[in-house]
Order: sequence, then structure tokens, then C-alpha cells
Amino acid sequence: MALLSIVLPAYNEEENIANTAAVLARLLEEYKIDYELIFISDGSRDGTFSEISRAAGENSRIRGAEFSRNFGKEAAIFAGLQMAAGNAVIVMDCDLQHPPQVIPQMWQKWRNGAEVVEGIKLNRGKESLAHRFSAGLFYRVMSSLINMDMKSSSDFKLLDRKVVDVLLTLPERNTFFRALSFWVGFRTESVSYEVQERQYGKSKWSFFSLMKYAVTNATSFSTLPLQLVTVMGIVSILFSVILFIQTLVKYLSGTAVEGFTTVIFLILIIGGFLMLSLGIIGHYIARIYEEVKGRPKYIVSRRTAAGEGKGAEEAAIPDGVGGEEQQVSEEGSLYNRLGQQE
Ligand code: UDP
Ligand code: MG
Repeated sequence: MALLSIVLPAYNEEENIANTAAVLARLLEEYKIDYELIFISDGSRDGTFSEISRAAGENSRIRGAEFSRNFGKEAAIFAGLQMAAGNAVIVMDCDLQHPPQVIPQMWQKWRNGAEVVEGIKLNRGKESLAHRFSAGLFYRVMSSLINMDMKSSSDFKLLDRKVVDVLLTLPERNTFFRALSFWVGFRTESVSYEVQERQYGKSKWSFFSLMKYAVTNATSFSTLPLQLVTVMGIVSILFSVILFIQTLVKYLSGTAVEGFTTVIFLILIIGGFLMLSLGIIGHYIARIYEEVKGRPKYIVSRRTAAGEGKGAEEAAIPDGVGGEEQQVSEEGSLYNRLGQQE
């Protein structure tokens, strides 16, 4: 029987875990889908991980891990993909803004041969004006930079085992999950859904974190800003040729002294262009620097124990760094699956 893994990144979501786990378990049991839930606590500072451990103690199909600090949602998603054992994996938010009712549809499409099932947003849910504006700006910039329509796409999607394995072999550290699943290709279908209201707690994104996310993702996915530097260079050259001719004509006709304004103007423009170009190039160098250091995407500090009833925190495995934890996660999931088959 095919196993469905559901990966749920969670950052300071203590109020949501128990409810989300219960809702998902009820739904999947109703549809008779063999499942496992994988909660990744992204360095939460509240009781998120104890909630996950408690849920894992009650239901052997639930597992989880805690990061040593906040590594961001992307890292949490990849840690979940790494731990997942399913033939298909669904990634969704743990605040139930991605409606669970869509899961059976995704599952059905996968059974019928789809390898990626994208969740497409019909609306954007309830948001503040500032959030709507910054998110709108973010999607416009992203869409034009990477040539994909990002506006209605989301991190809510189902991936076939093949796709998950491909994503896990990508060596890059600055990942953008949403766009990578387009980039890898495969037979893609979609289901649309209405963004729900957040169950408990509040959104983790501020204006600045969203802008930072935009710049990081744009530069990790596109080299267009670098090409922009070339374009600016060409524009400046054209401009200077025109001014050069004008200056020469003035000199030859003996009216050369004035034009101080032009000089100031030119210094400012060229200075501005140079600084901007250096900034853009610097940003890419920073990205290269980060990639070359080869640090792991995330560090796992604790895991739930692979058994029921036990307090997971005592039996937690303290080591385990992103990318080198195949062993542990395979054992864990094997145990869970054995437990499910009686
Ligand atoms: N999240 C995370 N790490 C972070 C920020 C968010 O794992 O640094 C998780 C969060 O717990 C939630 C999901 O990512 O499950 C989406 O976050 P949120 O609901 O705050 O974003 P929004 O829905 O407002 O876009
Ligand atoms: Mg949310």
C-alpha cells in the first residue's frame, strides 16, 4: 500500500500542532490513506517541539525534529523531505491555511499518474494592507525574474518520490522550493484551493523578512540583476559618447569653459551606477561565498523517539546534520510502517 508523507514546517506554532495533527489524522483515516505526519520545528522558542513529541507519543504515524535554531521555512521543508519515507510527499503549512480537504484530490491525481501536484491559490486569504502590498511586489519581481507565474503558486504541493529524490540531490543551499518544483519539470497537474484563515497564532512574516526573502530568492534563482549591470554600462557608454561629441564641438567652436553642471551631473550618475553595480555583484558574491562554505542547510538538535508512549525528549538523538541523516530517518520510518501494518 502506498504511503503518503505530509511535511509540516512549524515555527512557534505550539497552539496549532495538536489540532492540525488531529484534523489530518481524522481526514486521512476517513479516506483510508496510509500516512505519516512529519513536523519540523524550525528552532521554535515556544513549546512547539514538546507538542510534536506529545502528538508522536499518541500516534505512531507522527514524527518530528527540532532545529538547533531558526533556519527558515525552506530549510524546514527540506529537512522534512529528507525524513519522509512516503511514495508521495505533501508539503503544507501547519496553521491549516492550506485546506486539508484538498489532500484527497492531490492523492487521487498522484494515483492517476501525476508526479507533481501544485496547489494553486484562488485568493490570498485575509492579510493586512502592508502585507498584501509587499507580497504583491514580491511576486511581481519574482515572476518576471524567473519567468514563471508565482502569484498563485504556493508551497502547498504533492511530490512523487522520484521528484523528492531529485530535489534532495540538488547541492545548492539557497533553495526556493516553490520555484524548484517547477524547475525540475515532471508530469505536473494542479488543484486549486481557497486560502483559509490561520487557526491560531499569527503570521511569521514581517515586511523586512519578506523583502529579504525576495532578494535572496531572486538572486538564487536568476542572474538577471547581473545582466542589468551590463545594460546600465551600455547606457552610460552611449550617454558619454553623446556628451563627448558635444564637448568636442564646443571646444572646437571655442565656447568650452561652461558646463560645470554637466560635470557634477555626470560624476553623480556614474558614481550611482557604479555603486549599484557593485552592490548587485557583491550580493552574488555573498551567495557564492555561502554556497562554497558548504555548510549544511540546517542542524537538527532533537528528534521524536521512534516509539510510542515514550517521552521523546529523553530518547532524542542529539546529532544529525542536514544531508547526513538518511540512516536515522530510514530506521524511524521503517519502525513506523511496521507499527502500522498490523
Ligand atoms: N515557518 C517556518 N519557519 C519560519 C517561518 C515560518 O517553518 O521561519 C512556517 C510556519 O510555522 C508555517 C508556515 O511556515 O507553518 C507558513 O508561515 P506563516 O503562516 O507565518 O506564513 P503566511 O501563511 O502568513 O504566509
Ligand atoms: Mg500561514
